[in-house]
Amino acid sequence: MIENNIDSAERRCPACDSARTAYVGQKNDFRMLSCQKCGTLYTSGLPAPESAEDYDGYYNSENLSVPDFINKRLDEIVAGFSAYRQNGRLLDIGFGAGTVLQAAARAGWTATGIEVSQTAVEYVRGLGFTVFCGELAEAKYPDGHFDVITASEVLEHVPEPDALLREMARVLRPGGLLWATTPNGKGLSSRLLGLRWSTVSPPEHLQLFSLKGLKTMLDAAGFRRVRIVTHGVNPFEILHTLRQRRSNGEVQECSDRVGSSYRLNEFLTESHSRKALKGIANGLLSVGHFGDSLKTWAEK
Ligand SMILES: [Zn+2]
Repeated sequence: MIENNIDSAERRCPACDSARTAYVGQKNDFRMLSCQKCGTLYTSGLPAPESAEDYDGYYNSENLSVPDFINKRLDEIVAGFSAYRQNGRLLDIGFGAGTVLQAAARAGWTATGIEVSQTAVEYVRGLGFTVFCGELAEAKYPDGHFDVITASEVLEHVPEPDALLREMARVLRPGGLLWATTPNGKGLSSRLLGLRWSTVSPPEHLQLFSLKGLKTMLDAAGFRRVRIVTHGVNPFEILHTLRQRRSNGEVQECSDRVGSSYRLNEFLTESHSRKALKGIANGLLSVGHFGDSLKTWAEK
């Protein structure tokens, strides 16, 4: 590992803006850097706009349908937002198959969302939701419009996550809640597998935050009462994996990985003792900050 100060052509840390970084290797033709201040793992450059990810190819009839246990889990997550309900408006960023929107609607929220994939937008409009196709800033929502914003597996994709968080803070009402998930760049898989971890996947993922980096970025964007926990098994990551690029010959590998994740999760939720075991395992992961996912609750 070579520590260096980056030259002007390279990105500063997308989480804490530090220029102190270490080169950790190449992945998919991208130079990967590790921030020496907060530990966030990120690409040294950004993909050219014309080669940016084609998110329309993300969705098809296969990955727009969702297993029952995920919907059940989403109902539990949405139930946790009830203390924040004042105007009843919830915004889901990067809604994909619309599973969060549907869970929110089941719980009586006025749910809307934004998404860059036209295919996903058409699918969700077909379900009766009014949604916006494009980036959050383009939607031009009024200040303080929403009680709750959800963003699962979004922050690792965008070129300027700090700017996205500031826009989220703007459209959230004072006292409102941001709930977000993103992969943990300092979790067990990252520590064990390094750049071989499948989640290190530029240009799809441009940064994998450390807990410290994510907290720094949320504080800087104006959020308070920030709580971040790490978690071992994350249904959103499974969902996300389902819609990974299918054109590059990795289809079989991805399907197998997703299939085994489902089997594992079904196995673990089959009986109470297994559920308890899973709870203990996740508890340990959380205490050690080694879980592969970062879950965030932050108030404006
Ligand atoms: Zn950093």
